[in-house]
Amino acid sequence: MIDLHCHILHGIDDGAQTMEDSLHMARQAVHEGIHTIVATPHHQNGKYVNEKNEIVDLVSALNNQLLQENIPLTILPGQESRIYGDIIRDYRAGKILTLNHTNKYIFVELPSSQVPQFTERLLYDIQSQGLTPIIVHPERNSRLIEEPDILYNLVNKGVMTQITASSLTGRFGKKIKKFSIDLIEANLTHMIASDAHNVSGRNFHMQEASEFIASEYGLDMLYMFYENAEAIINGHACFKDTPDKVKKKKFLGIF
Ligand code: FE
Repeated sequence: MIDLHCHILHGIDDGAQTMEDSLHMARQAVHEGIHTIVATPHHQNGKYVNEKNEIVDLVSALNNQLLQENIPLTILPGQESRIYGDIIRDYRAGKILTLNHTNKYIFVELPSSQVPQFTERLLYDIQSQGLTPIIVHPERNSRLIEEPDILYNLVNKGVMTQITASSLTGRFGKKIKKFSIDLIEANLTHMIASDAHNVSGRNFHMQEASEFIASEYGLDMLYMFYENAEAIINGHACFKDTPDKVKKKKFLGIF
């Protein structure tokens, strides 16, 4: 399995704090059947700034340590950038890192409770640079939960999305689990990833989420997510089904 979203690099955000933490996470990942992790530290989220060069150096240091420890896991460079007005300028200036450096896919994080006015325009501009923006964990954005048509509109215009394994397994509560399911059913998401920060409260849960997807939707759906993860690290095109609007649940009652 490939995990596209993980805070395994230590000492630079709210993920792993020490090399020991990174190694604990690495062992847990291997235990769940993960062989490749894209390290995606926070960038420009109001608290952390992690630019490309620094991330690339830390990834090679961690890979060296994994070799020494005989942990069969490969770390690839990535970044989880908050949406901000200068993202394209910074991409051109070499501060923004695409997933595995392919200049094809870029992670974009929305604030947790809103979708800024400029989102659609900026995601369009990102695409005009030849990049595909992937919105991370849309299922945890309270505005999108209220108004899923906003996400439908973005996906319809070529934006991709990644849902979190532990959202599907219920770690973030029933509402977020249900919205994750809605997004899968409406073809509004294209991949799962862990967004793991540690091995306690924000663990991987990729195995459990995979079992859930296989049992609810069948192996075809699970393999589509896996193949998209592989396509992304190789800079290839992903599989995308035609998006639908999330159906409003009809109120079933006796009048
Ligand atoms: Fe994250």
